[in-house]
Amino acid sequence: MSHFISFCKGSSSAVVLGELICEKLKASTVEAVCNKTVIDLAGVMRSNFPAFNGNRLNLEKHVLKSLAENENFDDYITYIRKPRKQTEAFIKAEVKKYIFTDHKDEIVNKLKNNAEGLNTLVINALSTATQKVQTERGDINMWLKKFSSLLKGELTFETISSQNFSDIHDFEFLKEEITKRFTSINHKMSSLSLDKLKESRLKPDEILIDQLCKCCWVMCPFCAAVCTNTIEDHSPDDHSVPFHRPKGIKGWHKRGTEEFSISFCTTSVASHGKFRPHDSEESFPYKEYRRAGPRYANWKITADQSKLAYWKWFVYRFQNQLEEYYEYKFQGRGEIPSEWEKIPKEEAIRSLDEMC
Ligand SMILES: [Zn+2]
Ligand SMILES: [Zn+2]
Repeated sequence: MSHFISFCKGSSSAVVLGELICEKLKASTVEAVCNKTVIDLAGVMRSNFPAFNGNRLNLEKHVLKSLAENENFDDYITYIRKPRKQTEAFIKAEVKKYIFTDHKDEIVNKLKNNAEGLNTLVINALSTATQKVQTERGDINMWLKKFSSLLKGELTFETISSQNFSDIHDFEFLKEEITKRFTSINHKMSSLSLDKLKESRLKPDEILIDQLCKCCWVMCPFCAAVCTNTIEDHSPDDHSVPFHRPKGIKGWHKRGTEEFSISFCTTSVASHGKFRPHDSEESFPYKEYRRAGPRYANWKITADQSKLAYWKWFVYRFQNQLEEYYEYKFQGRGEIPSEWEKIPKEEAIRSLDEMC
């Protein structure tokens, strides 16, 4: 009789412990499935997605391409004034489109596979822990220790004190109990919706922003082109960029007039002209631009004739908005060359391929 009572007591303890374990597994499994999926996803995009799988210039090229496709002047201004902000917005938008539109089914499958993977892990851990305790004639304490050590790294599983469960001796029963419950939880998990990913603590766009935006963001003082160095603080090396732009893009104009300056800074630095920084009383020869202050001193701007058709197209396409925004005019010495207006958008976008 006492044997029977002890059996009943032991099995009801196993039911309670099983419930407790499944409760803990449930929360951490959802999190683990989402985290795993998010990390996979960021990795896949980093190696396969055209905008993210190349170097710095490649990303820049795709940002510029999307700006041209959308033809939104406000976005251009954000890009010109705060290139990092616009680049981050681009990454966010592309990741969102990738997950929720273009690769939706694939990602639902990924969630499902990851849920199944964790299911297998838990079921195997149950078997291994049970086997160990049976062959080594161990107790519930040994069982719990083994079980949690097998999940470590994959699932965060707080320790459960074995104190109240010392009357559990039928480990086979405990295993069945947990398997039954956990499988039904996991079954629901395999239909985890994409919405769960939105709630995930890890965000694929943040992972990618971290990886792709840790670099130098210093802008050319003349044309706002962004330094392409991949190291955040690369002093004493100079800032540099392979392609500069017409200076009017950043609001440069001819002193004392309302005429935009539309020459590329790579042309200006070879000229005999002078310029006056907006916060300076003094003018400096373009050829000695480095003397004009700290913002100029660390830039390497080489005189050359490289002029991306992209920027000519941009200035022509948005001339009215640029005039309104900066309150200068494309007239007189700032008149837009007639060849710029003949550049179709497709050609402008194609010219970005020269960047890398
Ligand atoms: Zn420049
Ligand atoms: Zn730099």
